[in-house]
Amino acid sequence: MMDKFVKNYQPTDPAWFIEEDTRQSEKMNLYEALFAQANGYFGTRGINEDVPQASRAGTYLAGIFDKSECVSIEWVNLPNPLPFYLLLGGQKVDLKSSKVKSHHRTLDLKHGTIIRETVFQTGEKLTRFRSIRFVSRADVNTAAMKIEITPLNYSGQISAITELDGSTTNAFGSYFPDEKIKHYYLCRINDNFEPQSFMMVKTRDRGQAVGFLTFVEVNAENFRRIKKVMGEKLTEEIKLEVKKGKPLEFMKYITIADSRDYPENELRSALEPILARACKKGFDMLLEENNKEWEKAWQQADVEVKTASNDDKLNSQIRFNIYQLLTNGSEKRTDHGIGIKGFTGEMYRGHYFWDTEMYMFPFYLYNFPNIARNLLIFRHSTLPKARENAHNRGCKGALFVWESDNLGNEGINPDINRETGFKRRRETLDQLHINLDVLYALFSYFRATEDTEFMIKYGAEMLIENLRFWASFLKYNKEIDRYETINIMGPDEYHANLNNNYYTNYLLGFIICQSLAFLNVLRRKKPSAYRNIIKKLKVAPVELKKWNDLNGKIYLPPAKDGVLEQFSGYFNLRDYKIDRYNEFGIPIINELEHLKDPSHPKYTPTLTHYHEALVKFARTTTLIKQADTILLFNLFPHEFSEDTKRKTLAYYEPRTLHYSSLSPGVYALVAARLGEEELAQRYWHLSLIMDLEDVKHESAKALHTPTSGEVYSILTAGFAGLSPNGDALELDPHLPKGWNSIKFNYIWKGCILSFTVTPTHAAIKSKGKRDIALFIKGKQNIIKPNKTYGFAI
Ligand code: BGC
Repeated sequence: MMDKFVKNYQPTDPAWFIEEDTRQSEKMNLYEALFAQANGYFGTRGINEDVPQASRAGTYLAGIFDKSECVSIEWVNLPNPLPFYLLLGGQKVDLKSSKVKSHHRTLDLKHGTIIRETVFQTGEKLTRFRSIRFVSRADVNTAAMKIEITPLNYSGQISAITELDGSTTNAFGSYFPDEKIKHYYLCRINDNFEPQSFMMVKTRDRGQAVGFLTFVEVNAENFRRIKKVMGEKLTEEIKLEVKKGKPLEFMKYITIADSRDYPENELRSALEPILARACKKGFDMLLEENNKEWEKAWQQADVEVKTASNDDKLNSQIRFNIYQLLTNGSEKRTDHGIGIKGFTGEMYRGHYFWDTEMYMFPFYLYNFPNIARNLLIFRHSTLPKARENAHNRGCKGALFVWESDNLGNEGINPDINRETGFKRRRETLDQLHINLDVLYALFSYFRATEDTEFMIKYGAEMLIENLRFWASFLKYNKEIDRYETINIMGPDEYHANLNNNYYTNYLLGFIICQSLAFLNVLRRKKPSAYRNIIKKLKVAPVELKKWNDLNGKIYLPPAKDGVLEQFSGYFNLRDYKIDRYNEFGIPIINELEHLKDPSHPKYTPTLTHYHEALVKFARTTTLIKQADTILLFNLFPHEFSEDTKRKTLAYYEPRTLHYSSLSPGVYALVAARLGEEELAQRYWHLSLIMDLEDVKHESAKALHTPTSGEVYSILTAGFAGLSPNGDALELDPHLPKGWNSIKFNYIWKGCILSFTVTPTHAAIKSKGKRDIALFIKGKQNIIKPNKTYGFAI
C-alpha cells in the first residue's frame, strides 16, 4: 500500500518532474543547481538537507550585493537555513560520510517542491530519511520543509540536528579557486533558551541587514531541545526515542526578511508574526498555498507540446526551462534585475547583463507584463550610474554598464580579465549595444502593452539619455554622409576594437527612429507631458536637431554576395570553417586541442591558457564566439529578405563556436522561422538540454537562465511562429516533424490569447476587451474577445 508521504507529495506525471537517484551521486553539485528553488525574492540551491561534504550551499536574496575584498562587486551568498541531519551514535549521517542504500530526489516542476527519499545504513541500522521542501511562492518571506525519519529495523535514541549556518562564503562564483570571500558578518544570534532560532547578519560594505527566524516543530511526545551556538552556526539538537518502523515528523519553518523592507532593529519583530502565521497554518496548508500560486503561474506560462509518441520527457525538459524563468522576476519589486544564473549559483557574480532584456524579457513580457515593466523600471533606476559611465568615456547622456549590480555599478573590474585573472583592459566593456538592447526591450514592452504612462514616467528619460550618448559618440563620415561607430565590440566577444558592428549599427538606427517617433507623437498628443520631459532633462533645440540628423544615417557595411558583414573589414580576415564537433555538436578547433585537459573541457582555472589562446586564434580569423549579426533576424523577423537571412545564416553557422550558451538558441530560432528543420532541431536540442545534460561542463556551479528564455522563444516565436508585426501579430508556424501541436498563452495589448498550433491548423481564443489583428499567410484576421477561431495553416 502506498504510504501517506508518497501519496501526498510524490508527483506522478513524468511530464512535470525531473529526477535524481543514487546513480548520479558523482553529480551532486550539478543537481544542487538543477534543483534550485526560488520565488523571485529569496532562493536556495537544491542542496541535500544533510549538507554532505563538498555541497555548495547557496542562499540568496535578489539584489543584495557586496564587494569587500573581491575583485568586483558580487551577489552575496547568505547564511544557509536548510541544514537538517541525524546523529546516530554520535556520528553525522549524510550522503557522503554514511553508507547509502538508496537515494532519490524529485523536483516537482508544477509546485516547485523537492521530494527526497534516502535510506542510510549505519552499522546494521537502516534509517529512512524523507523530506519535502519549498520556497513559498505564496509568501516570499517563507520557506518550509517536512522531514520524516523512520528507523526501519531498530528502536532507540537518535538526535536530529537543525542549523542556521552563518559560516557560508562566496566561493564558487569566481574563476580564482582560492578566493572565498565572506560578504557578511554576524550581528545577532538569539539566546539558547528560546524555541525559535534567530540570526541577523549584515553585509560588510553596504551594511544591509538580513534576518532569519526559524522554528522546528516536532511531531513526537517526548523529546528534548538543546540549543547551541557553535561559532557562526546556531544549532539545535532534538533528542528523542524512536520505535522501529514508526515514522517521526519534523517541520522546519524558515522566514527571512531584510533591511530594504524593515528597519534593521525591527527585523526580528517583523519576522515573528510571519513565522507565527506559518506555524499556525502548518506545513500542509503552507504547501497548499504555495501549490496554488505555482499552478496559477503555470496556467499562464505553460507551453505544452504534443508529439506522436507522447513524449513526457520532452515536456518535462521544456517545463524545467520555464521553471527557471518562473523562479525569477518580481511583480512587486523594482530594485533589482535578474542575474544570468537566476538563483542557481554565484557564477558571474550574480550580475545583470544584456541577457535579461534580450533573452529572458520576451517570456516575462508575453506572460507577466508587470514583471517586464519592473525590469525596465529597475534599469531606469540605474540611470545615475549610467550617466557616470557615459561621462567616464568622455560622452554625454547615459550608457548602461555591461555587468550591473542592483545599483547600476559596473560589476566587473575593468582591468582584470575574469577568466584568466590577467591584468588587461576588459574589451567587453566596449559592448555599447547594451543601451540598445535595453531600449529594444522597452519598445517591445510599449508595443505589447501601450503603457504610455510608463513611457512618460520612465521610458522617455531612458531614450533621451540614449540619444544623447550616441550623438556624442558617433563619428561623422563626410564622404559617405553617414555616422559610424568606431572602436566598439559587438556581441561576438572574440573580435575587439572594431568599427561598425552590423548588429549595433542596425539596432541603433531602429532605436533612433523609434525614439524620435515617440517624442513626436508625445509632443502632439500629450504636449504638457512632452514639455515637462524636455524641461526636466534640459533638452536643447540643437540636440533635437542633431538627433533628427542622425535618423536614417547610421552606416551599415554593405552585404557581400547577399551575406551581411559582421563589422567593417570582417570579410578580410583569414577565413576559417569548423569541421569538427564534440558529442553535443559544439565545435572543436583542431589547432588548439593539444592545450585542453580532457577532464576540464573548457573555462576552468586550469585552462586559462586555452581560453587566452582561443581568443588570440579567433581574433585574426572569421571564427566567432557567438551569434552576432544573426540575432538581428530574431529581433526584426519581418525586415530582412528571406534570401539575406538564408545566405547569412549559411555563412555564419559553420564559423560560430557557440562558446556562449546564448548562441545556439539564436540560431535555432532563426532556422525554425526559415523552416530549416535539421538546423533548427540541432540547436533547439542543445538549448533545451544545456543544463540538464551539462553541455558546458559548468552547470554544477550555476545554470544558464537566459538559455531557458531562449527555449521559450524558440517554441513560441520559432516553431509556433508567433511574432509581433507592427501593431498586429503574425503567425507562421514550422512545427518539427513528429510534433502534433504546441499550446501556449500570450498576453498582447491586455488580452490573453490562447494558441493551439498544429502543422495544418491554428486555434486561437482571446480573453480581453479588444480586437486583435492577426496575420496568417499575409491575410489579416480580426480576433474578437471571448471567441474561438480556427485557421488553416
Ligand atoms: C557572453 C555574453 C553574455 C555573458 C553572460 C558571455 O560569455 O559572451 O554575451 O552576456 O557571457 O551570459
